[in-house]
Amino acid sequence: MDIKGTRKAIDCRKMPNSTCSVRIAGTEDEVLMVGAQHAVSAHGEKDTPELRAMIRKAMEDETRVSQPSSPGAPGATSRARA
Ligand SMILES: [Zn+2]
Repeated sequence: MDIKGTRKAIDCRKMPNSTCSVRIAGTEDEVLMVGAQHAVSAHGEKDTPELRAMIRKAMEDETRVSQPSSPGAPGATSRARA
């Protein structure tokens, strides 16, 4: 299964009525599911088709996740995963 090319992310900051900074990333289905759960549990939203449409609309491609993306962060590259 190659899902690397289809990873999506959503920033809760971009959602209407949101004041939190949660970022959710995964496949489109995962982001949709987790995003809906987050909206319900953290923001008191209702899990409706409208909510899911809003989440889907706010999704963006996350294509650079495999690279260490913190230039200048100490130790960012020294702890390679086995
Ligand atoms: Zn949130």
